[in-house]
Parts: sequence; structure tokens; C-alpha cells
Amino acid sequence: MQRTLIWHRYNLRLRDRHDLQHLQKLQTSHSQLIPLYCFDPRDFGKTAFGFPKTGAYRSQFLRESVANLRENLRQQGSDLIIRQGKPEQIIPELVKTLNIDQVCFEASLTREEQQVEQALRHALQPLRTHIQTHWGASLYHPSQLPFEIEQLPDVFSQFRKAVEKSASIPPPVAPLTQFPPLPEMDVGELPSLASLGVDSPQTDSPQTDSRSVLAFQGGESAGMQRLHDYIWRGDCLRNYKLTRNGMLGADYSSKFSPWLALGCLSPRSIVAEVQRYEQERVANQSTYWLVFELLWRDYFRLVAAKYRDRLFYKSGLQKRLIDWQQDWQLFDSWRSGMTGYPLVDANMRELAATGFMSNRGRQNVASFLTKNLGIDWRMGAEWFESLLIDYDVCSNWGNWTYTAGVGNDARGFRYFNIPKQSQDYDPNGDYLKYWLPELAAVPGDRIHQIHRLNAAELQNYGVKRGVDYPPPVVDLAESLAVNQQRYESAIALQ
Ligand SMILES: Cc1cc2nc3c(=O)[nH]c(=O)nc-3n(C[C@H](O)[C@H](O)[C@H](O)COP(=O)(O)OP(=O)(O)OC[C@H]3O[C@@H](n4cnc5c(N)ncnc54)[C@H](O)[C@@H]3O)c2cc1C
Repeated sequence: MQRTLIWHRYNLRLRDRHDLQHLQKLQTSHSQLIPLYCFDPRDFGKTAFGFPKTGAYRSQFLRESVANLRENLRQQGSDLIIRQGKPEQIIPELVKTLNIDQVCFEASLTREEQQVEQALRHALQPLRTHIQTHWGASLYHPSQLPFEIEQLPDVFSQFRKAVEKSASIPPPVAPLTQFPPLPEMDVGELPSLASLGVDSPQTDSPQTDSRSVLAFQGGESAGMQRLHDYIWRGDCLRNYKLTRNGMLGADYSSKFSPWLALGCLSPRSIVAEVQRYEQERVANQSTYWLVFELLWRDYFRLVAAKYRDRLFYKSGLQKRLIDWQQDWQLFDSWRSGMTGYPLVDANMRELAATGFMSNRGRQNVASFLTKNLGIDWRMGAEWFESLLIDYDVCSNWGNWTYTAGVGNDARGFRYFNIPKQSQDYDPNGDYLKYWLPELAAVPGDRIHQIHRLNAAELQNYGVKRGVDYPPPVVDLAESLAVNQQRYESAIALQ
């Protein structure tokens, strides 16, 4: 009997799985596929700055996704083995007890994940187990690119034009219909949040905030449902380009990111739905734009592959030694949504309460942290890593280096004008008031400049500065000048 262990990592789905399709083709009555998911305790430890590595919202989403994978496998006649422990210890044990010949998994691109892979390879060596890895999770396969990864353009639009011209996005592969049953064994229980060491008000579910943009439910089934709801039922795709910069509500953007991050949805399945929609309903700039955004996701994967560990260095991809500050008082004002700038505060409170923030919000709060507060961008990236329900190592660290001005395509000291962004993207202050109810009586046209209102004006709107709402932690113009100076005087390493 030929046995193959499928180690599920960031591909918690059964649809669009090249690896499974390939293995199924090879399958005979004497071969068996054995699916496994490992909750690795290192993923539930602390980040370098001491934040929980996987916060309660993502942990819960992950649990739901694993549970759903098991459910879907059971419907196909198989099951999912669930273990808690280091893969490099768990997998060799299974290899021995189940006489496994081959281990298959999706190769990763970043440091910590690759270290786990190396440890696994090392542990499997004496057992002579065959290892098969594959590339997944992106629209294009690296072999389709018109350049080597080392030659990846540092400007996104150059990358996009080059791939769009030379290659087409492969369609998703058909889902597997049948899996052989597992051998007699203890398949293991889904661990509770408490046993993962995740701090949560309740043991099995974090308190979900009713203000969340969406009741995110992990798993391929819920991901497919969201895909259908957003594209077909809500018919939101036709206006996506116009709405995608919003901040309030379920449908201004797709919200596919949490399912993409864990591989519950594949990007190619999304593109296939977009193409079907274009044939059956409408093809316009908005339908193209969703694919365009998914290309950003591909791009940051390739940036990670090209620059490797530099993605996590303080000096970033540019090797620029900026005098970043690690001022915990200012950082605390930022992470708790108490900076005195409503756009930053509303977004940071949304993140803390729900694990989600819009792209517009992310760009603004990251700019404020790095260009106004001058704080070490890695503290922001780790805070996002801890809280985001859609945390994706390449997208998060790639976007942070980009926004901090140490990433690819850095064009000098660029920053977001926070009051202007607030005015442009939330003209009536609806989003701000949703998250900052203490500012409910401030008129929409004044809320964006609240830092400029004097105490008497504020009192007219029922706000006592320093009591109901904090005074601004920095002056916008002055802080930009200081940080621009720091940025421009920074030495670039060779
Ligand atoms: C500082 C910062 C940190 C970020 N961290 C993450 C992260 O950890 N995980 C993550 O998935 N995205 C991250 N993003 C990118 C982006 O903000 C989210 O992908 C997007 O807000 C998710 O919402 P959505 O699915 O509704 O997006 P939509 O607007 O509907 O876009 C569709 C999909 O395109 C992809 N996409 C869109 N914009 C980007 C982008 N700038 N970079 C990479 N992919 C993109 C995502 O997969 C997204 O789900 C970050 C952006 C910034 C500025």
C-alpha cells in the first residue's frame, strides 16, 4: 500500500488543488491519501515586540477553517487528522506509525515557515521518506513569468504589464470527488482556543463585535458562499472600482482576504467567477479591477521570494537605515485609537474590536505611524500580524515596507494627509462616528479637523478635550517635517 501524507498549511480547501488532482491521478486501489493539519505552538507564541502572534479573531477563523476542511473531507469518505505540536515532530511519528512513503505540502516563501520545512526535511531524512512540495496560492505560476524572480521589477505596474502581456491566468482545477477512507486511527480533536493558549473572553469563541463589517466564518464553504454573495447575489462586482475605497459596511470591497490568506479560497477560483460574471452580466473597469488587486497579492509573494529576509529587516528592501523610534507611549496611543486624529482612531478601534480594517484605513494608519509618529514600522507590522483576521505574511510585510518608504518602488518621503483623506473618503463622517460615538454630535464638515477646534467649540458638540476625546498626540505638519528630515538623512547600506 502506497501512502501519501498531505500536510495542509495555507491551503485549507479541496477545490483548485493541483497537488491533489495530480496525486489522485496516480492513485490506485493500493494507494492512499492521508490529510493532516498541525496546530503549531510557535504560531501561538509572541512576536518580537511581545504581541500574541495569532490573536483571538484569526485563531477562531483558523479553527473554523480546519473544522470545515474536516467536514468536507468526511463528506468525501475521508477525514482530517488534527494534531497540536511541531510538524517536524508530529509528521515523522505519523510516517512511522502509518508507514507513509511520501509527504506533500505547499512550499513557503518566508523565513519562519521555511525553518519549519527545513526541520521537517531533516527529521524525515533517516526515514527515507519522499518529500514533494508545490507552489500554490497565486494566480500565476513562477514558470509563467517572463523573467526570473531575481529580475522581478521593483515597480508594480512594470510587473503587471509584463505578466498580463505574456501569460494568461490558468483556470482552477476541478475539485476531487472522492477520497479513500483513512486507516483505523485516532484522528484527533479540534483544539479549543484555550488549549492553543489564545486569550479570549470565552473558551471556544472570541467575543464577536456586532459592528464588524462582516460576520467572518472560516472555511472553504463560507468562502465560496461569500464569493457567490458578493459577485452574484449582491451584484457588487459591477461597481467594485468605485466602492473599494470605502470603510463602512460589508460590500464596499470583496472581503475575500481572510479566506485567501488561509487558502480556503484560491485566487484562480475568484478570477474564474469574475470571467463568468463578465460573460453573463457585465465586463467593465470594476470587473477588471478585482483581478488587478489580486495581482498585487501575487506581486508581494514574488517580492518576498526575491528579497527573502530583507522583508523583515528594519532597513527594509532598500537597506535604508532610518532612525525609527520605539516610543511605547506614542505606539500605545496609536494601537488603542487614542491619537486625537479621528480617521486613525476609528480604524485602529475597528481593528482591535473586529480583526479587520479596510485597505484605505490600513494605508492611512500605517502612514501616520511611520511618517507622523516616526515609529519603527515593524511594531506596526507586528501589531497587524497579531490582530488581522486576514494576516498574510507576504501581503502584510510587503505593504508595510512599501508604506514606510523602505519597500519596493519607494519614491522619497510620501505620506497620507490624514484630514484630507478623512474628508475625501468619509465626507459626512459616518464611518468616524460609527467607531467614535463620543464625536456623534460633531458636524460632518468639522469632524475631520477636530484637532483644530478650540475647547469652547468642542464643548458645543458635547466633547471635552482630554476627557471624552484625546488631544492630538503630535502636530501634523511639525511631525512630518521631523520625520522627513530623518528619512532623508538616512544612510542607505550597499
Ligand atoms: C499596511 C498594510 C497591511 C496589509 N496587510 C495585509 C494582510 O496581512 N493580508 C492581506 O490579505 N492584505 C493586506 N493588506 C492589503 C489590503 O489592505 C487587504 O488585502 C484588503 O484590505 C482586504 O480586503 P478585501 O478582501 O475586501 O480587498 P479587495 O479590495 O476586495 O481586494 C481583493 C483582494 O485583492 C488582494 N489585495 C488587495 N489589495 C492588496 C494589497 N495592497 N496587497 C496585497 N493584496 C491586495 C487581497 O487578496 C484582497 O482580498 C495590507 C495593506 C496595508 C496597507
